[in-house]
Amino acid sequence: MKLIHICPACNKEHEVDSVPEPSQLCSNCKNFNAFIDLVKDQFKYGGQKYALNNERESTDVLFDKHGKNWLFGTVDKYTFRYKNLARERDLLKIACYMFITWLKRGFYIMDKGINDPAIDTNLETKNHNFPKFVEQANTYANIFEKTHYSTFYIEQISIILEKLSKSEWKDVNKYELFDIFYNAYKEWNKKYSNIEVHDTDTYSNKKNK
Ligand SMILES: [Zn+2]
Repeated sequence: MKLIHICPACNKEHEVDSVPEPSQLCSNCKNFNAFIDLVKDQFKYGGQKYALNNERESTDVLFDKHGKNWLFGTVDKYTFRYKNLARERDLLKIACYMFITWLKRGFYIMDKGINDPAIDTNLETKNHNFPKFVEQANTYANIFEKTHYSTFYIEQISIILEKLSKSEWKDVNKYELFDIFYNAYKEWNKKYSNIEVHDTDTYSNKKNK
């Protein structure tokens, strides 16, 4: 017999086979949390790899030298690579870059962000503000589910990135960043949520040592 349980995270009803613990999450929330943990691993690792000093990272310097379109172009490179190689880590990198862009636009400082200057990132800022990013991204989940019917997630990401490259930095809004983040999650959920060993940068580097 199927039972109905209300997930404490998203408050949606879902079917379960046996009486669950009240704290049991639905599979979507469980998978989303797993994705969040992998993105966290990714920026912790990237933070070590690209740290210049305690204040800023290579991303900040490259952004200053080549402009915001360097950032969006770099992310779009991962969509092309993903289409060819379908590597899980490219999805994690896309998601991670949306968090970095959200930081650089200063959305953690003010609701409408800070246009100028672009904010520097470092591991401490990332660790400290990731929960806030996840919380804001979470509130976007319902909008995403109600407005997105296409399952061409990667193509969708590429389209938004092109739009961002054509906009001014001040017009880059956080919903576009969450949108890309969610498209990356949806693709990941479809392809990688059920695999045992995740293909992250962190993992493969340990493996090669
Ligand atoms: Zn849920």
